[in-house]
Amino acid sequence: MELRSDFLIIGSGIAALRAVPEVAGHGDVLILTKGGPEEGNTGPAPGGLAAAVGPGDTPQAHAADTIAAGDGLCDARAVEVLVEDGPRFVRELISWGVRFDRAPNGELALAMEAAHSARRVLHAHDATGREIGRVLWERASRLPRVRTQDHARVIDLVLDQGRCVGARFLTGNGEWATALARTVLLATGGAGQVYHETTNPHVATGDGIAMAYRAGAAVIDLEFVQFHPTALMVEGQPRFLLSEALRGEGAQLVNASGEPFMTRYEAAGDLAPRDRVSRAIVRESRRTNQPVYLSLAQLDPDFVHQRFPLISGMCRRAGLDLARDRIPVGPAAHYVMGGVQTDLDGRTTIPGLFAAGEVACTGVHGANRLASNSLLEGLVFGARAGCAMREECAGGVTLPSHVPTASSGTKAGRLTADPIELTRMMWQDVGLFRDRDGLTRALAALEPAWKQLDSMLAERRVLDAQDWRTASIVTVGRLIAGGALRREESRGGHYRADFPDRDDVHWKKRVSEKKT
Ligand SMILES: Cc1cc2nc3c(=O)[nH]c(=O)nc-3n(C[C@H](O)[C@H](O)[C@H](O)COP(=O)(O)OP(=O)(O)OC[C@H]3O[C@@H](n4cnc5c(N)ncnc54)[C@H](O)[C@@H]3O)c2cc1C
Repeated sequence: MELRSDFLIIGSGIAALRAVPEVAGHGDVLILTKGGPEEGNTGPAPGGLAAAVGPGDTPQAHAADTIAAGDGLCDARAVEVLVEDGPRFVRELISWGVRFDRAPNGELALAMEAAHSARRVLHAHDATGREIGRVLWERASRLPRVRTQDHARVIDLVLDQGRCVGARFLTGNGEWATALARTVLLATGGAGQVYHETTNPHVATGDGIAMAYRAGAAVIDLEFVQFHPTALMVEGQPRFLLSEALRGEGAQLVNASGEPFMTRYEAAGDLAPRDRVSRAIVRESRRTNQPVYLSLAQLDPDFVHQRFPLISGMCRRAGLDLARDRIPVGPAAHYVMGGVQTDLDGRTTIPGLFAAGEVACTGVHGANRLASNSLLEGLVFGARAGCAMREECAGGVTLPSHVPTASSGTKAGRLTADPIELTRMMWQDVGLFRDRDGLTRALAALEPAWKQLDSMLAERRVLDAQDWRTASIVTVGRLIAGGALRREESRGGHYRADFPDRDDVHWKKRVSEKKT
């Protein structure tokens, strides 16, 4: 099967769906998405979306907080675009029908989150991503000449004389298909599933980073992974996120004796940056040899259930009452700051290929992302990428009449690596506490799998969907581990136990790399 369109959008999260209105009406749009339309990191985002819309708040204050969280590596121009354009995009969402929570006086209800200097987080109860996704999806589906194909797992990009002209994908029936387009947007989200402990849903295996890297695009900052401190730690339950907004409203981390412990490790206490809270939880847990809990016992139970209905329901399903019980929590991989290197309009280093959202890296988050900045990033940079794609097509880009796309061979292949083992090793050796020995061990385990993958692709072996999942874990895992071994300092989400200090003399720089 060969499909042709003007704009190919890969993914159906906030970045993809905010790009669509920019290109719809200017040509045929095809959206390919791996699972159901709502699967991805946008839907489960409970906490909210940061923008300087409150009284007394300013884009400059939002920029200062973003840059402080980024620990010296934010791209100042990207931050400026994010915070200056943010309020406009929020107003637009409201005009499109997103129902953010409001205070009794009708003003937007703004939450406080860690490392923000003002109340600036808009929310829709604790299902903010789902509410935004609902509105963007409804809007995109009504736009002219927009087609969607779900359960379409994009595997690799199609290049013609160095330009990206489409992608190959596996349909839900396991058949190969090709989608050719004048411009292509990668909006495939994050890579949390590279780790055994993660808040990310099943689809978040970093496929976009892996395929862009294999196609020769530059990737950058991949050593910077954010670990969220408070995932639900109940045996047999998914690592459901207990949003930071809980601590923003007064929830406290306590040890097994019920003592609050955060100030023992961090002056900012429960609202210290995520990586610091995550490491403090591990240290306290090691010190006491006991789990760590989140306690909301000091808050009004009616308020807790009303403000956090989704999280209350999840806890109930795990046999816990959010308002009364101590909730066992621990860190999990949450967000990848690095990704496919782009400029401020989503252009990657491959002509015709754009990227936006979590898969992309503009440098807006530096070494660590400020809470609630990524939904905003998806909106702002998704729209900018869509705009740039439209302008590029208006400039007369044409699709070649014949593109050699039959790159899949006939001989089947099987990767020998065990993906579960690899994700366990990533968690153990490339997680919260890193050092040279662990990183070297991880790379030594990943290297044979990478070499096998590389040679199987060179021989045009046919892999099945499960092996493509493993291929992404191997490719992205190796990039994260390699970047982490190279960076001999600690900064933002990257902590080296053998180099515990930030080293601005040698490492106040971002490192970009391409497949050689
Ligand atoms: C539990 C959780 C809570 C969060 N809470 C917040 C929050 O409160 N505030 C905030 O700002 N951020 C939050 N984040 C981060 C934020 O939600 C994400 O960074 C953001 O939604 C990413 O949007 P996106 O459009 O880039 O990707 P996604 O929303 O992840 O969408 C990616 C899309 O690409 C598709 N896809 C992936 N691979 C392929 C492939 N091979 N072929 C075809 N399609 C593919 C997926 O199916 C999906 O449709 C949270 C993340 C998680 C996991």
